[in-house]
Amino acid sequence: MNNTPTLYIVIPCYNEQAVLPITAPLFLNKITSLINKNKISQDSKVLFVNDGSKDDTWQIIKSLSNENIHYEGITLSRNRGHQNALLAGLMEAKDRCDITISIDCDGQDDINAMDEMVDNYINGAEIVYGVRSKRATDTFFKRFTAESFYKLIKWMGADIVYNHADYRLVSSKVLNEFANFKEVNIFLRGMFPLVGFKSTCVYYERNERIAGESHYPLKKMLALAFDGITSLSVKPIRLITGLGVCISVLSFLLIIYALVSFFSGNVVAGWSSSLIATCFIGGIQLISLGVIGEYVGKIYMETKQRPKYIISEKTFDEDK
Ligand code: UDP
Ligand code: MG
Repeated sequence: MNNTPTLYIVIPCYNEQAVLPITAPLFLNKITSLINKNKISQDSKVLFVNDGSKDDTWQIIKSLSNENIHYEGITLSRNRGHQNALLAGLMEAKDRCDITISIDCDGQDDINAMDEMVDNYINGAEIVYGVRSKRATDTFFKRFTAESFYKLIKWMGADIVYNHADYRLVSSKVLNEFANFKEVNIFLRGMFPLVGFKSTCVYYERNERIAGESHYPLKKMLALAFDGITSLSVKPIRLITGLGVCISVLSFLLIIYALVSFFSGNVVAGWSSSLIATCFIGGIQLISLGVIGEYVGKIYMETKQRPKYIISEKTFDEDK
């Protein structure tokens, strides 16, 4: 009995007052059913992380935690984004549990996959990735952009699990090692494979959001993709170097051509060709500078070593 693992379900919430009252009991039911099956300990909890919501999310979390001992919550001092909120929850949970499962609070990820995740942990896996078996409920656009992103990031050399978002079981053993990753730009799904340990996948179907709206419009999705690539891979810089080399070779050939024309007397009258060349090179240079700037910016942020989040309140006592 006493060697059943303690599970913390970690759930980042940002402006989720519409879904939280619906999905919170589902998470609680899952915890109680796993406790009843003797798979996890009585101390298991649902830990909500309020990511500086502007609506009543934190009030809802506080009243939930008064209702049932299995509910707990922490709130960040301001909105820090999904990845930081999730990290705050995982770091909070790691010293008080054996396993964490991170999941969104909108009911899109099938919570029944948790049973299989816990089974896999019991059978020796330290990380279990939840993978969407198909994306039937996503719009064509979301599916297309998301799948292209996974392919692109893989091609860029980052090791991420295809069609896995942030629904995953991670043991406290892994989290303790993960705590040593001091970087500020975080992209969790790409970082856990870097920690190593035995891992496996569980497949599930993703549903539509139960209520409320997605916080990932195209702009944020692109930002996440761009951040993901530039925090995990330096391949874009290499591509630019390669492009630079190709263009230099081309330019060299052009110079030879121009010299030959000059000496053979066919003086080129056209300013257009030189204009085109200048613009072209100018464009390439600007793109290159932009991408390099992105990395320089990341280095700048990393050197500051700012805290990734600040917890301003908790529904439970610090030391227990
Ligand atoms: N979220 C968060 N902070 C943010 C944006 C989102 O904690 O700044 C949470 C949100 O409450 C949800 C999860 O991250 O639990 C995923 O967000 P969402 O469902 O909007 O994204 P999608 O599933 O559409 O990609
Ligand atoms: Mg969602």
